[in-house]
Amino acid sequence: MLKAEYIWIDGTVPTPRLRSKTRVLPDGTTEFPLWSFDGSSTNQADGHDSDCGLKPVFSCPDPIRGGNAVLVLCEVTNADGTPHATNTRAGLRKAIEAHGSEEPWFGIEQEYTMFEGARPLGWPEGGYPAPQGPFYCGVGADEVFGREIAEEHLSACIDAGLLVYGVNAEVMPGQWEFQIGTGGPLEVSDHLHIARYLLYRIGEDYGVSMTLDPKPVKGDWNGAGAHTNFSTKAMREAGGMDAIMAAMPKLEARHDLHIEHYGAGIEQRLTGLHETCSYREFKYGESDRGASIRIPLAVRDQGYGYFEDRRPCANIDPYVVCRLIIESVCG
Ligand code: ADP
Ligand code: MN
Ligand code: MN
Ligand code: MN
Repeated sequence: MLKAEYIWIDGTVPTPRLRSKTRVLPDGTTEFPLWSFDGSSTNQADGHDSDCGLKPVFSCPDPIRGGNAVLVLCEVTNADGTPHATNTRAGLRKAIEAHGSEEPWFGIEQEYTMFEGARPLGWPEGGYPAPQGPFYCGVGADEVFGREIAEEHLSACIDAGLLVYGVNAEVMPGQWEFQIGTGGPLEVSDHLHIARYLLYRIGEDYGVSMTLDPKPVKGDWNGAGAHTNFSTKAMREAGGMDAIMAAMPKLEARHDLHIEHYGAGIEQRLTGLHETCSYREFKYGESDRGASIRIPLAVRDQGYGYFEDRRPCANIDPYVVCRLIIESVCG
């Protein structure tokens, strides 16, 4: 028999969480059946009429269970099959119907923090580690904490067939990043959700919890973001810099709307310090890590490519972020 882990996004406010449950199906199943769950336990229904639907939209091998097992990502539906109010993937599908001809591509850098109990992994009891500086892309037992877990997660993403781009240790000790992309908006967002699931699930085996909190430690410590890299076909072709520059005023005009949907707690992370631009202003710049939008040096030099939206927080809903960027730039 085949073990299928059905995964969906719940209705927790302000930041939804992942939920999953297992369905046993006949060997060789490739068309995964619709299923349902109790929405009153996930903030997606009240107790009287609580059935919500699970509609499989993406599946891949399950590298944790291995063998005869798959992960099945689902959209949440109402009883009549229409998208549930919490189903933001449906909104992204609409934006792609309208603007897919511009061939939008994304790459998302997912930062996160490993916690053991109440402190980040590797932090001394009742105190702080040395100030930030040596930890980003560091090596050595005194600088890097949790590599074993990050390595296992990377292998799991590869074995699941996800579009994983790379991984690195981050500026704050105990903080890491992996990137998903480069690919289309649905593909990258779906893969990011599965990659998050694998991260949490592998963390269980180590007694380490993973947080996407955008500012897990207050004070002089870097927050956690989800830089979102974006291009259209026009931006990727010779002379694409014109298309990149044309996007800047469009993004500026809708800055507040983007900030509103770029993760709860964004004011604590986008302070203007720690490689961020204040959430109160919009700035773009070449190679500028203190800007809202950064145009990488290599892109400037070759004259085409993509830009990096540095505003999104680690706890974003990628379906919403991809939809907003597509609507703002292509609309
Ligand atoms: P940084 O220098 O900001 O840390 P990373 O190396 O972590 O950048 O990540 C680069 C990201 O850019 C990856 O997620 C990758 O998928 C994405 N990317 C590269 N080329 C493109 C492109 N043409 N369009 C969209 N995203 C791209
Ligand atoms: Mn990065
Ligand atoms: Mn980073
Ligand atoms: Mn980045």
